[in-house]
Amino acid sequence: MKIPLVDLSWQHREIEREVRSGFDRVMASSDFVLGTDVDEFEQEFAKFCDVPFCVGVANGTDAIELGLRALCIGPGDEVIVPANTFIASALAVVRSGAKPVFVDCESDFHLIDVKNAEAQIGDRTRAILAVDLFGQLPDMGALENLAKRHGLSLVEDAAQAHGATQGIRRAGAFGALSGTSFYPGKNLGAYGDAGAVTTRDPDLAHHLRKLRNYGSDVKYQHPVIGFNSRLDSLQSVVLRAKLTHLSSWNAARAEAAGRYAEMLAGTSGVALPKVAPGNEHVWHIYAIRVQARSRVLETLQRAGIGASVHYPIPIHLTQAFADGNHRRGDFPNAEAAAEEMISLPIFPGITASQQEQVAGVLKRAVEEASG
Ligand SMILES: *Cc1c(COP(=O)(O)O)cnc(C)c1O
Repeated sequence: MKIPLVDLSWQHREIEREVRSGFDRVMASSDFVLGTDVDEFEQEFAKFCDVPFCVGVANGTDAIELGLRALCIGPGDEVIVPANTFIASALAVVRSGAKPVFVDCESDFHLIDVKNAEAQIGDRTRAILAVDLFGQLPDMGALENLAKRHGLSLVEDAAQAHGATQGIRRAGAFGALSGTSFYPGKNLGAYGDAGAVTTRDPDLAHHLRKLRNYGSDVKYQHPVIGFNSRLDSLQSVVLRAKLTHLSSWNAARAEAAGRYAEMLAGTSGVALPKVAPGNEHVWHIYAIRVQARSRVLETLQRAGIGASVHYPIPIHLTQAFADGNHRRGDFPNAEAAAEEMISLPIFPGITASQQEQVAGVLKRAVEEASG
């Protein structure tokens, strides 16, 4: 039996009726872009993150780009970005006109290394992009402190951590603003592209409402240059339906992560993911580390297990960012993680017997690869 990395069909069955009736409602009203369901979802997601404002946009990359633009960050400015994130984090910085300056991660949790971030701060640095990697938050207290001491903005990339907490605060509630993605495979996913910015700052929220909509919040008045990056009503119907299940779906992911930890405990040659102190992890990705990664991965995939790698090439070594003149060795922790990580299937609805199968093949593969 094949086991996919992510199976969204289980989630769909839970919300199917609500989604169909919502789609009927939107189609009957022809209220397709920035409609009533968008307003409602924005309020519901803001409440979920415990912040006053949410501005829906077309995708997560736009959310971060427009967020940086709202902070007046652009050409000539630098933004600190961890080297081990999805490339969209860095692309959003480029799209704003600013330059991403990459930094290493620490080796326990693979979250941004705060000391390395501090070392990269220069005259042009304007912001730090704090990426919530795989479902847990970096040390936001330390990053807020660092940003404050150097007069920088802290911006959160919350795309992988819907519902995660650190202390008493949820992902989406940190920094000057937070950009997130509702790409279908995320913990809170739409049925196409979608994204949002959350913030406590009313002026930033107001500016973002203009930026996403041709620079206008009053029809045919355009005080600023804007973009077309809007959330649509059909996606908002899906997001509203899924949001009511998000906490229980995250609990199901945590249960599955706990099962993997039990099944794989003590397996020599397999390093299990760790949760940083103060964090509640929402297990967007369950990434282990192994030696001889390519052989282990191949065995898993040949056995029909949709194991994958997040991410095989750290951003500073991608061809797209070759002009940064980085070389192998610049960020040893990010590079080692990229060579050793394997993401195992995890999603709400994965069964214990599916996980037994994954764990069984993995143990065999690791043994073979080391023998
Ligand atoms: C998915 C993702 C994004 C980009 O979101 P899109 O909606 O695909 O544009 C940005 N950052 C991280 C960390 C992501 O995982």
